Amino acid sequence: MMGAALYLDNNATAPLRPAAVSAMQAAMGPPANPSSVHFYGRQARLQVESARADVAMLAGSRPSDIVFTSGGTEANNLALSGFRHVITSAVEHDSVLGIAHNFSNAGNSGAGNPRASNPRARKMTVIDVDPDGRINLAHLEAILGGLEDTSNTPLGQTIVSVMAANNETGVIQPLEAIVALARKAGVAVHSDMVQVLGKSHLDFAASGLDFASLSAHKIGGPTGVGALIVRPGQALSSLLRGGGQEGGRRSGTENFLGIAGFGAAAKAAFEDVGHYRQMGGWRDALEAQVMQARQDVTIFGRGVDRIPNTSCLAVGSKSSETMVMALDLAGFAVSAGSACSSGKVHESHVLKAMQAGEGAARAIRVSGGWQTRAQDFEKLAEVLAEL
Ligand code: PLP
Repeated sequence: MMGAALYLDNNATAPLRPAAVSAMQAAMGPPANPSSVHFYGRQARLQVESARADVAMLAGSRPSDIVFTSGGTEANNLALSGFRHVITSAVEHDSVLGIAHNFSNAGNSGAGNPRASNPRARKMTVIDVDPDGRINLAHLEAILGGLEDTSNTPLGQTIVSVMAANNETGVIQPLEAIVALARKAGVAVHSDMVQVLGKSHLDFAASGLDFASLSAHKIGGPTGVGALIVRPGQALSSLLRGGGQEGGRRSGTENFLGIAGFGAAAKAAFEDVGHYRQMGGWRDALEAQVMQARQDVTIFGRGVDRIPNTSCLAVGSKSSETMVMALDLAGFAVSAGSACSSGKVHESHVLKAMQAGEGAARAIRVSGGWQTRAQDFEKLAEVLAEL
């Protein structure tokens, strides 16, 4: 068997941080239902609340605003499922577009659609993005301007959902302006912050957002755990009914081990944000070196703000799939756009929305993580320059 490849696919998932491993090992064993009243239950509750405080610290929210979920996918679903109309961008993660798309199908009018006259029918409106992948603010403003009067509307009306940074390109959205437009129109705002958590400073409390989604495994915590941050006073439509855990917002006995790992990873990430600041320089150096060495390079989103660990680039004439395999043989684990569950490479809806043309079929994504060092980017730059 070949030696392990240098791992540069951290936007798909990051390796577990040692602190997360230790926390989960320590949490394994004793009975741990945080709702139990006895000693063991109280111990478990203390640990869940301590993890909640660590996640809140990293996200800049109050601990009581954090609702633990089974990951970013559930957090996105939880945030949006109570709203009748979701205004979202063309470059969102499938866990936003998927749910919004279902809404849209349910809301379609016309012959043959049994739900066409359903008063709770739901609707999705898609905001355009520019060739750099940033949403078109004028388009959002026009969509919001066309809404019927939204003042004093109950939960179940309209929400704007725009991700903080894209998982394929790293492009950062102008959230401040998005929040301002949504506020002016009197509608709620959600942001999928899965890819910015731990990579740049987050201040949910000051952001003006109503909801934000997080995931543990992108920051060196385990898979299968995440959180939705909910602004105080903002109502939530629960997806899971049952024992009323998480303040009645997400029923089901808490994923105790996962939450312990998430908390430890969040604490380590909080102390480690400077690492990502440096990484932006390593990423930029890689791109500069590859562009200097050859003419046939396209870097997606290079002209705008991106999270510091991500580069989405097309190098040479080979398809994404061939490039990923060639780099795997050369000892690098990178991906072709987003990793989907089937493991197959499919056309990226993100690059398509950015009108990337045939370059989309050649794009690969390089993404560093907490364990990545400058020399990892340097080694890859040398290989890409010559491949
Ligand atoms: N949102 C974004 C931007 C992501 O990159 C991902 C992970 O792929 C998710 C949501 C889903 O998170 P999870 O894997 O925890 O369900």
